[in-house]
Amino acid sequence: MSTTTPTPPPVTAPPLEKQTTVGNYFVSNYPPFSFWKQEDVGDLYAALERPSRPGNPLGIYLHIPFCRKRCHFCYFRVYTDKDSAAIKAYIDATLKELAIYANKPAIRGRKPNFVYFGGGTPSYLSVDQLKHLFGGMKALLPWDDIEEVAFEAEPGTLTDHKLKAIRELGVTRLSLGVENFDDHILEINGRAHHSKEIARAYGYARELDFPQINIDLIAGMVEETEANWQDCIRKTIAMSPDSVTIYEMEIPYNTTIYKQMKAEGKLVAPVADWETKRGWVNYAFNELEKVGYTITSAYTAVKNPQRTKFIYRDRLWAGADLLSLGVASFGHINGTHYQNHHDFDPYVARVQAGELPIHRALTPNDDERLIREFVLQLKLGHLSRDYFKKKFGPDPAERFAVPLQTLKDWGFLTIDGDAIRLNREGLLQVDRLLHEFFLPQHKNVRYA
Ligand code: SF4
Repeated sequence: MSTTTPTPPPVTAPPLEKQTTVGNYFVSNYPPFSFWKQEDVGDLYAALERPSRPGNPLGIYLHIPFCRKRCHFCYFRVYTDKDSAAIKAYIDATLKELAIYANKPAIRGRKPNFVYFGGGTPSYLSVDQLKHLFGGMKALLPWDDIEEVAFEAEPGTLTDHKLKAIRELGVTRLSLGVENFDDHILEINGRAHHSKEIARAYGYARELDFPQINIDLIAGMVEETEANWQDCIRKTIAMSPDSVTIYEMEIPYNTTIYKQMKAEGKLVAPVADWETKRGWVNYAFNELEKVGYTITSAYTAVKNPQRTKFIYRDRLWAGADLLSLGVASFGHINGTHYQNHHDFDPYVARVQAGELPIHRALTPNDDERLIREFVLQLKLGHLSRDYFKKKFGPDPAERFAVPLQTLKDWGFLTIDGDAIRLNREGLLQVDRLLHEFFLPQHKNVRYA
């Protein structure tokens, strides 16, 4: 019998994907959307009849599915051909949808803590349409307890008159979809705006004194180069926004880029590989840190973290209710996830008939709820074991002992008392690491 201690097997490196192939990379929810089912829609109706969990904040998400052009990398439900009558019908439908919710026991009498206008392009709406929409929403669920009103904007749609109205209507976080500063790159990726519109919109938004202006960038657009990326970061820093969000380019199935790849029989997207994109985000984070920004998540750098919060993200990742309105939007109420109808006409018709336009739903069990919050909060780069023990019972260091050890072995994670932390290398690839925490039946499946 041997008396020597067996040598532990070498730590296998994480399976590293290189090229950008088709599929969703970004993890925005759990369990994966492909598990949400039409037959479970009744769960949401039942959840709406129950009172809400005391103290759980309520947010509203409103999807504005209109854009001037369809970007080639876009996978959202958007329309570029709707006239003002169709837009008016849509806004009225979203208000009617909100009115139905406002009468349900789960929502009645609650005041929203945050509102998020996403898209699509919320700033595509005219000033009159925006006033009608905001006024109608406030009349149904008063905004006197609102901490944040976030609004996504495409620079080319922001006239001075519209920006002023957006400010007066109460938007506190204006997010400018800049994506890149180079006109050629913007053009070949199908963006509608030009670089000069970025400077003009940003300058006037600053004059209007929005409490928070965010600049949104994408690392790895078609034809992006290292030199151009560095130039984008220089320009971003020169503008000195309150926060910067950076997403790595992914190519989901229903994008124009993927359709073209398929037609040409290509498996690899014509964009930088993952290592390069991570390198670019790392470069951006380093440059932003040099001028005083703090990295507050895998995608976000903030100039003053004491002053600049992102309430929508933080509440959502801590399990807040999210009442989602509009075509194809995703919500979460009283423990049930749901998604609305993803086509314009059926969505509007259902609401006009006085019904909720729910397409599919899922009620996670306790363990899935724990996994959801854990993986979402890991995107912040650190989380508290104590928070999870108090809220869910088990110590996450025990519940997730195996995947945590895996991430430790790979050199991405440490556990230090109450804190579970990812280092920078781990944070830059967090979305692919999160799959380690998924239940076996949710791994290696189509995400959306
Ligand atoms: S502006 Fe945004 S939502 Fe509209 S097409 Fe481009 S990526 Fe999609």
